[in-house]
Amino acid sequence: MIFLKTEEEIALMRAANQLVGRTLGEVAKLIKPGVTTNELTRVAEEFIRDNGAEPTFKGYPNQDDVPFPAALCTSVNEMVVHGIPNDEPLKEGDIVSVDCGTLLNGFNGDSAYTFAVGEIAPEVRELLKVTKESLYLGIEQAVAGKRLGDIGYAVQSHCESHGYGVVREFVGHGIGREMHEDPCVPNYGRRGYGTQLKKGMCIAIEPMITLGDRRVYMENDGWSVRTRDHKPAAHFEHTIAICNGKAEILSSFDYIAEVLGDKEF
Ligand code: MG
Ligand code: MG
Repeated sequence: MIFLKTEEEIALMRAANQLVGRTLGEVAKLIKPGVTTNELTRVAEEFIRDNGAEPTFKGYPNQDDVPFPAALCTSVNEMVVHGIPNDEPLKEGDIVSVDCGTLLNGFNGDSAYTFAVGEIAPEVRELLKVTKESLYLGIEQAVAGKRLGDIGYAVQSHCESHGYGVVREFVGHGIGREMHEDPCVPNYGRRGYGTQLKKGMCIAIEPMITLGDRRVYMENDGWSVRTRDHKPAAHFEHTIAICNGKAEILSSFDYIAEVLGDKEF
């Protein structure tokens, strides 16, 4: 069942998502060779709690009821999503996808960004650029009257035209009082097909795009998802509200941009 949100509810969604954006800004300040993903999640969790919210991911159960142990998902290089933070220092040339969720005043925020650690290979920088572009192309389609297939098609066609793989096993989602609500929001699709978008729907659009083959596998920890060919993957995510005109982006990369300046990756 899809829950449409009132203006008041969307205002609460915006607050939760802006806090996610600010948290990702704090993370951006720390990204450099030598930092560990455990340090990133420690700082993020403290920041989220200091701002009166809960880190939604911490304790979130998978299908087998295994709780996710941290406030952030940190997915390095070939890891696509749901990476568990650890004590391994990030290295020059790595990429790390950081996904963050907050619960504030009963509503959820959810947003992700793939960061470069120092200088990265040009082909990987291009993967990040195209994946981020595909997120905004998807958002352009997210208006009342269009369909989920229009969003998926926009993301898929842009990424596949660059020869990249579009992950099928994991998708975007509705979001509100629950982190994952209906509908599923795939990063692939046919124009004009799927559920029609209505004013008041709030969804997370989150392309997960691979440099090589699109196939992925899950590790025995029940969380970490890697590319089968071990090539890098990128992940960018915004939570948005569907309106009668242009979608409203509730989350924000502005706080990241303040830290990174002209250098997006
Ligand atoms: Mg997310
Ligand atoms: Mg999400």
